[in-house]
Formats: sequence, structure tokens, C-alpha cells
Amino acid sequence: MSWLTNRVLPKIGLGRRKDGPDNLWEKCRACGQMVFHRDLEQSFRVCPHCDHHMRLTASQRLGLLFDDAEFERLKTPQPPMDPLKFKDSRRYPDQIKDARSAAEADFAVEAGLGRIGGQPTVVAAQNFFFMGGSVSPGEGEAIVAAAERAVQEDAALIVCAASGGMRMQEGILSLMQMPRTTVAIQRLKEKGLPYISVLTDPTTGGTTASFAMIGDVAIAEPGALIGFAGPRVIEQTIREQLPDGFQRAEYLLEHGMVDMVVHRHELAETLARILSLMREPMVAPPVSLPPPEAVAKPDPVDEPVADADEVGEDTGEAPEKAL
Ligand SMILES: [Zn+2]
Repeated sequence: MSWLTNRVLPKIGLGRRKDGPDNLWEKCRACGQMVFHRDLEQSFRVCPHCDHHMRLTASQRLGLLFDDAEFERLKTPQPPMDPLKFKDSRRYPDQIKDARSAAEADFAVEAGLGRIGGQPTVVAAQNFFFMGGSVSPGEGEAIVAAAERAVQEDAALIVCAASGGMRMQEGILSLMQMPRTTVAIQRLKEKGLPYISVLTDPTTGGTTASFAMIGDVAIAEPGALIGFAGPRVIEQTIREQLPDGFQRAEYLLEHGMVDMVVHRHELAETLARILSLMREPMVAPPVSLPPPEAVAKPDPVDEPVADADEVGEDTGEAPEKAL
């Protein structure tokens, strides 16, 4: 494809776009530019024009982080579906069925075991495209299973958050996942294993109020919305205009809520570096010296006298030898 068809025509809405499938080009939400899908894949869905970090599915996230994109998918327990027989505009089982076929996954959390920078690591990633990444007992089980597997394997745990919160269709059972996931992660921490949370756009609601904010290290992606209640709700409640960039990753970094904001292209490398710092001792432990009384004292009579004689002879002869 020439530069003309590749770059210019789609922007002005002419020509070849109708020839191919619609999904060859994607419009960036931030700058409005059309981006060719292959360019977008190669840049891990970071807009090449404005650096906007578009959302990733859970599978894309796992592939991005593990060394050589190689990992073992973790199977998670399947709790009973639709315990409340919930129905709003549609029956809940129908909503789940659609979400499952669209996402090609059973839950809004997918987890894998592999290596990052050579360190054994379990990653659990939320999928915002699956019912807004909401957490029901199924997703809670996935995170608990990920933490337990990390303990079994003596591996670090990373959770990539992308969620609107707990899933209302399963009511209190969803809310129960907040303490459950927190306890599972606490058990991992008690074993001395690192837990890192990666906060992506958006991380809100019960996800923020539980596992997402208890990382030993909290990393956010640029521009990610991170908060409990959304900015609109807060603005309406306190009847004040919120500052620019409120609840965005950079604002939270400035106010001490996250440890670092890391570009997606540097995320795997940064995680590898943090994991190696947390898991490999940088300085060898000091060699313990023997106690002073155990050190043999030199014989005060023989050795110093003999040495002095030899030294005296040597110094006398040395200039002649040198000449
Ligand atoms: Zn853009």
C-alpha cells in the first residue's frame, strides 16, 4: 500500500476505505486521527500521533507483559452463574452469554503464569471489554486462584486493573470479592512475594477500593482514569469544579497515590527491573569475621627478630644489585 492510500485517503474519507473491511482503520478517541490497524497492533495500541494509550483486552495485556509472550493460562473455578436470577432490560444470563462470545473468554479476568525478565510471575488482567471489567464471584475466583498459584510457584503477582467496579447483577456476592481478593493477596505478601498493581484506564469503583490499590508498587499507564467515584459524580456532589486532570494518572502521581507513570512500551522492562530489585539481593551478605580471640597472635620472640635481620641485609645489598 502506498503512502497515499495508507496515510492520506482515510483522513479525508475518500477512496479505498470502502474496499476493505471497516476494521482496517481505527479512530483515536483522543486526537481523532485514523490509525491503520497494523500500526496500532505494532505499537500495542498506543496512538502513533498523540501517544494516547487505548484499552487492551486481557489477552493482549498478558501477551504484552510476559517474556516472548509465552505463558501458561491459568484455569479458574467456575462459581454458579446468576445466583440472584437478575433481570434488568435483559436477563443476566443473556448478557453474560453475549459478553463471553464477544470476549472469547469466560470471565472478565484472565490469568497466566510465565516469566518477566526471567522472574517467575503470575499476571491477572482485567478485561474492560467484558461487561466493563466488572468483578463478580467468577472474576474474584480468578484473582484468588492467581494469588494462590503465585504462592505455590514462589512467583510474584501482578494485577492489571481495568474495571468499572463490582458487578451489580450479582449484588452482595460481587461485593464479597473485595475482602476475598484482599485476603488472598495478603497471604501472598506474608510469604514475602512481591505484588505489583498496574492501573490502566479505567480503574474505578470496588476495584480501586480493594486489590488495585494495595500493590507494593503501584504503576499507572499515562492518562489512565483512576478513582473510586467518577469525576462527574464528585462534581455534582460537592458542587465545585474539579481541577484539570483530576483522577488521571499524572495527577495521582503528583499527589502520591501512585508510585510511577510508565509508558506502555516501557512497561514490561520496568516490571522486569522492579521484580529483579525486589527478588534478587543487590549486595552479597557480609562475610562474618571470626571473633578476635580466635585469631592466632604472631609469636613475639622468633619472627620479628628474624625478619629484622633479613630486612637489614637486604637493604644493604640492594643498591649494589641494582647497579
Ligand atoms: Zn491519537
